[in-house]
Amino acid sequence: MAIRFVIFSDLDGTLLDHRTYSFEAARPVLKKLKQKKIPLVLCTSKTRAETEAIRRKLGINHPFVVENGGAIFIPAGYFDLRCLRTLNKGGYDVIQLGVSYRRIRKALKTIREKVDVKIMGFGDLKIKDIAEISGLRPEAARLARKREYDEPFILFQPEKIKEIRKAASELELKVVKGGRFYHLIGNNDKGQAVRILKELYEKKYGKIKTIGLGDSSNDELMLKEVDLPVLIRKPDGGYENLPPLRNLKRTRQPGPAGWAEALSQILNF
Ligand SMILES: [Mg+2]
Repeated sequence: MAIRFVIFSDLDGTLLDHRTYSFEAARPVLKKLKQKKIPLVLCTSKTRAETEAIRRKLGINHPFVVENGGAIFIPAGYFDLRCLRTLNKGGYDVIQLGVSYRRIRKALKTIREKVDVKIMGFGDLKIKDIAEISGLRPEAARLARKREYDEPFILFQPEKIKEIRKAASELELKVVKGGRFYHLIGNNDKGQAVRILKELYEKKYGKIKTIGLGDSSNDELMLKEVDLPVLIRKPDGGYENLPPLRNLKRTRQPGPAGWAEALSQILNF
């Protein structure tokens, strides 16, 4: 039997265009993945509400990872989960890896005072402000604000990032960098979530080969977990500066075009 592939993919700047959030360029490859029944697991810093809307547009029904590994949402019955601690929520089995948004919001305030730094989290911003700085439509910005495990923030004094990281770690939290924002999160990351899903897929299918695609520093640990990591080019022509990774493939094109380029090469489409 042919080897089974499982794909883990970031959204912003990877499957979705950094500026327009379109996945038009990836459409033909998405269609092929569906025909060949290759699971596409979205692994993003976006919220559950945002990711659900995107899954609907993509027409896929596989597990997905939200808010930088804050939680894994698995359609009920997709895996045999008897040995794992899960939560039933809205038709999903949920594996929670992150800490509550309330705790993160509180910590953001503590850090702001302690470091004496100007930072603004999504919780401090109005929907229209989020729409403006992210280029999202107001409806999408509303979904982006429904946070459960991760607070994206804007930093007005980037020179203070070291102090902020230190203050976060004293609160048992950490800061990761995505394509557009910094994020304050618990000790979770995309890599942990991928590791759990990999095991579940192996239990279901036997041996699998994993592909991971991302464009930013918050994708590093996800890329480290997969057999075939792909680093997507940035719209400015550069690449995120990651520590060396085995088998890393860099795309020639940015965003969804690069995403399609890498997958057609790997999967021989
Ligand atoms: Mg990204």
